[in-house]
Amino acid sequence: MELKFKLTDYRTTVHNNWCPGCGDFGILSALQQALYELQLDPSNVLLFSGIGCSGKTPHYVNAYGFHTLHGRALPYAIGAKLARPDLEVIAVVGDGDGLGIGAGHFVNAGRRNIDFTIIIFDNEVYGLTKGQASPTLKLGMQTKSLPKPNISQAVNPILLAYACGYTFIARGYAYDTNHLKELIKQAILHKGSAVIDVIQPCPTYNDIHTKDWFAGKGNIDPKTGKEIPRIYKLESTGYNCVITNDMSEEEISRKVAEMIVKAYEWGDRIPIGVFYRDLRYDTYEDRIEKRIPNYKIYPPGKQLISNKEGYPIADISKILEKLSI
Ligand code: SF4
Ligand code: MG
Repeated sequence: MELKFKLTDYRTTVHNNWCPGCGDFGILSALQQALYELQLDPSNVLLFSGIGCSGKTPHYVNAYGFHTLHGRALPYAIGAKLARPDLEVIAVVGDGDGLGIGAGHFVNAGRRNIDFTIIIFDNEVYGLTKGQASPTLKLGMQTKSLPKPNISQAVNPILLAYACGYTFIARGYAYDTNHLKELIKQAILHKGSAVIDVIQPCPTYNDIHTKDWFAGKGNIDPKTGKEIPRIYKLESTGYNCVITNDMSEEEISRKVAEMIVKAYEWGDRIPIGVFYRDLRYDTYEDRIEKRIPNYKIYPPGKQLISNKEGYPIADISKILEKLSI
């Protein structure tokens, strides 16, 4: 069967100025492949970014792209999704952009379970502004731009996402594009708020957590004397954390406890894959539809707001009457 869209349909010819070897290229490629394999019509995909190296992503994907303000990709994305729930909305944020200045939006997006996807480009630094410590840089780490070791604790994106109420939580690795592509597809297909924290080496400013380090540099197996890759796949261990309505409280607590242990794992072993899927909740859009039955048929983005001459068609005279004294 001939597919309607080709992989090249998701690419643009905009000049890419990410540094050579940047993990961002892997995320971009995985995203384009995911859109292609799902055969999503580029004109039905909305991509939102904030500010940072990740912010350039919408320029390189042939879809509707919105390069917004620092930390503000999520409110834009949420507004668009609520106005047009039929469209596919994806927000790409940096770790500083999304979990620093945009942290409040990240928390509140999770509470609602809006059906959209967030991809975090997590390189532990503010790459675009010369490598300052981002909220995911571990305490005591000193990357090359820092005059002294990092004085703050890092936020854990997986556990933060869980605490906020995200119903699909995963971690990917920018240099494993096949695996990341599958995660992005699952996140897009998930009905609810999905977040993927992507480990994205920044070869220019993060000289500690490098591609070689993730591949196992210095991580020697005492038995064989060989280096062991730090990144491993959760699914290869039989891990599967899906929460459903028919599970007992005890079962849910056990699953969540297991997820928390995995989310804390970092160092010699770093898990990637789906950490958590919760199938118990309606999406925000479903909840609105229960109150406004024709919401999805006639959402705000499809409603006429002006006549042919451009004048507003809303009649607010009754509201004004109530306000008059
Ligand atoms: Fe990539 Fe780092 Fe360069 Fe930004 S500064 S483009 S994150 S390598
Ligand atoms: Mg960053």
